Amino acid sequence: MAKDKPRRRRSKPAKVVRADKPTPESVEKILRTVRWPGTERDIVSLGIIREISLQGCTIHVALGARDPSPEASQAVAEEVRSRLKAEYEKFAVDIEHVAPPPPPHPQQAPPQGSPSPHSHAQAIPGVRHIVAVGSGKGGVGKSTVAVNLALALKKLGRRVGVMDADVYGPSIPLLMGASERPKVTARNRIVPLEVHGVQLMSMGFLVDEDAPVIWRGPMVMKLIQQFLVGVEWREADFLVVDLPPGTGDTQLTLVQSTRLSGAVVVTTPQDLALLDAARAAQMFNKVDVPVLGIVENMSVFVCPRCGEESHIFGQGGGHREAERLGIPFLGEIPLNPAIREGSDTGRPTVAVEPESPETKIFLKIAERVAKETEAASEPTRVTF
Ligand code: ADP
Repeated sequence: MAKDKPRRRRSKPAKVVRADKPTPESVEKILRTVRWPGTERDIVSLGIIREISLQGCTIHVALGARDPSPEASQAVAEEVRSRLKAEYEKFAVDIEHVAPPPPPHPQQAPPQGSPSPHSHAQAIPGVRHIVAVGSGKGGVGKSTVAVNLALALKKLGRRVGVMDADVYGPSIPLLMGASERPKVTARNRIVPLEVHGVQLMSMGFLVDEDAPVIWRGPMVMKLIQQFLVGVEWREADFLVVDLPPGTGDTQLTLVQSTRLSGAVVVTTPQDLALLDAARAAQMFNKVDVPVLGIVENMSVFVCPRCGEESHIFGQGGGHREAERLGIPFLGEIPLNPAIREGSDTGRPTVAVEPESPETKIFLKIAERVAKETEAASEPTRVTF
């Protein structure tokens, strides 16, 4: 793209003599012309620049990419150096490779020296935090929670994407009322849809609807690769991933393939669902993904006529289970026919009922999720 081209041709950098002093803005502008290898993204929007400073006659740039390959890091460092030198010939350029922001729960990091279960997990270019929504079994409202959590994060001012990774029952487009299919760019990359102000991509757009469900698990690795490299996500603070229900190999593959900031486990109050939720929490723990908390869905039925509350499936189970597992309890969402009707007609609660008690609960949950995950990332330090 023309706007991403360096302002000067690199073949003649030696002839360029500039007396101007670099400023944080001018350095950042130049860094925006450097792409991360294999992606369309520049290193500033990817959040890789951890620090820009001017120390005497030296421009210092600290790069902190997640899971960088040595080749990619070196190529980027060389590119940064040559572009800065072309613009500011009289200044030295010092490039430092620093650690990316720490994971949200350092206490859950594996002991030093042990291989990280995330070592082959990939970040998604342009996406700051990936949060998975999982459940021990189907039908507990996992997709409903994923959609409304995403919309609540959007309401809190974040840029949000939703990735429907439920290969067995990709229902998010339906829940969000998306009827079109995504477009494909000339470079063969899929452009996520934009629905209710959030980006949306679904496995349902990629899997053959006629493919038997039993074939879909083994296809996951291929599909995930397509999601990681073949989808043109616009910049997002959060990507909410709706996982397939359960704790089998398919779920584990998905969890391990992407670098997750955390996971939310959805359950209903029945004993069996709670048992499954515990299993889901253990799955995330096993692969070192911080469990941000449990959401209990369909916890209480509020009679639409008289307002009386009935705990159809028992009371306080989610709370107790979260306490027993030592993970936060994020909130209870009532069983409300309006939620189901909204889902069936592509009108998710948080988008269409901004003042409802359920929306307020989703906003509280989103606040907790944002706080927990964002605590880990620090902004770029600029010292000039
Ligand atoms: P899962 O993703 O766990 O399979 P879904 O989100 O698809 O579950 O929800 C299953 C069904 O329950 C859907 O018809 C949905 O509209 C409905 N549902 C989910 N949460 C609620 C709720 N709190 N109140 C009423 N219906 C709900």
